[in-house]
Amino acid sequence: MTSAAVQRGIGMTSQRTRDRMVARLREQGIADEAVLVAMGSVPRHLFVDAALASRAYEDTALPIGFEQTISRPFVVARMIAVARAGRTLERVLEVGTGCGYGAAVFAYVAKEVYSIERIQALAERARANLRPLRIANLRLVHGDGSKGLPEAAPFDAIVVAAAALDVPRALIDQLADGGRLIIPVGAAEQELRVIERTAAGKLKDRRLDAVHFVPLRAGKG
Ligand code: SAH
Repeated sequence: MTSAAVQRGIGMTSQRTRDRMVARLREQGIADEAVLVAMGSVPRHLFVDAALASRAYEDTALPIGFEQTISRPFVVARMIAVARAGRTLERVLEVGTGCGYGAAVFAYVAKEVYSIERIQALAERARANLRPLRIANLRLVHGDGSKGLPEAAPFDAIVVAAAALDVPRALIDQLADGGRLIIPVGAAEQELRVIERTAAGKLKDRRLDAVHFVPLRAGKG
């Protein structure tokens, strides 16, 4: 196959398969059209090992090496839809780039996306995965995302793709007024939390779904 054909996808990696995934996301309750367009556009099969490409559009997490996983499509869509809350997003941060898939989806719905990954080899792999997609509004950073990215703050939304034991204060501090932090919290049992800094600067904390994420770890790998 030519590399253009690999990118477009055929059979189990085709646009038809992606459209079926989007139909499933709708049934699962994702209603944000901008997020659904993004999920239908980003070729998820390019972010997993070639041997797993035919399973890329199933609603499961898949291994990406270094004991990490690419999150289920539903979870990626859900977190970004909650982050967006129907707004136009200017600058946003993703903590935990992994293979780069979530960052690519985020880049469809926000003007400027920063994504930070602590494991250098994964940050490099994400860069390689993303290169052919030529996404101009996405910046990848190697570092400890539990400290956020103060040099680019404040953010309209921060999505954390790894579970924290406690919500890192630095992330709350880097929210713009009206900004939202979406973060899984817990150890064996985790829940998705949304911390919102209201336009008046007050903090609101809500608990959403039970979830299962790899742990957020301190320091660079
Ligand atoms: N966003 C990815 C999910 C990757 S899994 C997707 O689209 O599927 C979560 C990632 O968070 C792992 O790659 C892990 O190495 C990373 N991670 C864990 N703790 C981190 C930290 N403190 N800072 C940055 N990345 C972290």
